[in-house]
Amino acid sequence: MSKLFSNYKRAAVEFVKADGNFLIDTKGKRYLDFSTGIGVTNLGFHPQVTAALHHQADDIWHTPNLYQNSLQEEVAEKLIGDKDFLAFFCNSGAEANEAAIKIARKATGKQEIITFINSFHGRTFGSMSATGQDKIKEGFGDTVPHFSYAVFNDIDSVKELVSNQTAAVMLELVQGESGVQPADKTFVEQLAVYCKEQKILLIVDEVQTGMGRTGKLFSFEHYGIEPDIFTLAKGLGNGVPVGAMLAKSKLGEAFSYGSHGSTFGGNKLAMSAASATLDVMTASGFLDTALEHGHYLQNQLSQALLGNSSVTQVRGLGYMIGIETNKNLSKVVQAARDKGLIVLTAGVNVIRLLPPLTLTKEQIDKGVAILKEVFEETED
Ligand code: PLP
Repeated sequence: MSKLFSNYKRAAVEFVKADGNFLIDTKGKRYLDFSTGIGVTNLGFHPQVTAALHHQADDIWHTPNLYQNSLQEEVAEKLIGDKDFLAFFCNSGAEANEAAIKIARKATGKQEIITFINSFHGRTFGSMSATGQDKIKEGFGDTVPHFSYAVFNDIDSVKELVSNQTAAVMLELVQGESGVQPADKTFVEQLAVYCKEQKILLIVDEVQTGMGRTGKLFSFEHYGIEPDIFTLAKGLGNGVPVGAMLAKSKLGEAFSYGSHGSTFGGNKLAMSAASATLDVMTASGFLDTALEHGHYLQNQLSQALLGNSSVTQVRGLGYMIGIETNKNLSKVVQAARDKGLIVLTAGVNVIRLLPPLTLTKEQIDKGVAILKEVFEETED
């Protein structure tokens, strides 16, 4: 009998090795990875990240935030460039969102935060309360007050919730967990303008959409906006746990000495992974190719699957793709796995693909061919 809680449903397979974009199980079977964990190993198992980790482990892997940390400075510099932002490092997406919620409240002196129905922001009390899905909160008692939930892609529903106590609006630009729903460009543009006019902070949760996932380093670049605060985790360390909250420098006073912290946040091992990840991702042409390949994957999937009566839509942004279907999702996932392809689900009727940005066209074609077979062969 397992001594672990049963809060996860685990498939009967264990991956014990990786080779680039392939996972290898205990029996030596190779699987093409279209999941990257859950949008984490965005570069696949990349030798440059492995080398950075080895190198850092040989030197020193942790120092507390009581001392200078040039690796944190380096990663902040690589993330921020010439934007007027400051960075705080932590260990996960939920922790990054907690920091975002805290800085927004403290910087404005207001408490209300508007998020969206079907959003997902994490499992801690603050981030769970921000999440616009009841099932995530069931049974845990009172949530953190002063969150309200607007209708995604509906600017009027945001305006209806705004009061003179509204500190911030927080959103994912592609709602990931609930079914890969991209935000409309006009809605995001209107929202950014409205928030600015009303002096409401705009927080973008880039935990899943960030770090190249959508073919840009941050998904807000697709929308031509700049949030006041944004959060990262998942792909930031390409698999090494690390999160970040970045906010405009003018909010910096709210996170002055003693106001917030994290023991492991920004530790040297995580920072070395993040730094190497960013070097690969920001190398000339890398993200352009990822964006182009992401479009190619989405087009190939549309061609291969839209003729299947169970598939109603293929949608997404870059390498964040949802296949809406009325097939039994677990059966699709298992059938794909049996054929050597790892995919995810999202919401109640979506097969979610979060492949490595390093997929070759050959690997894309291979994955699409497997999915075509799976959709043809799996019962509804
Ligand atoms: N925000 C978004 C958009 C996410 O997709 C997730 C995780 O799936 C989180 C926050 C929470 O991240 P973590 O599981 O690292 O706490």
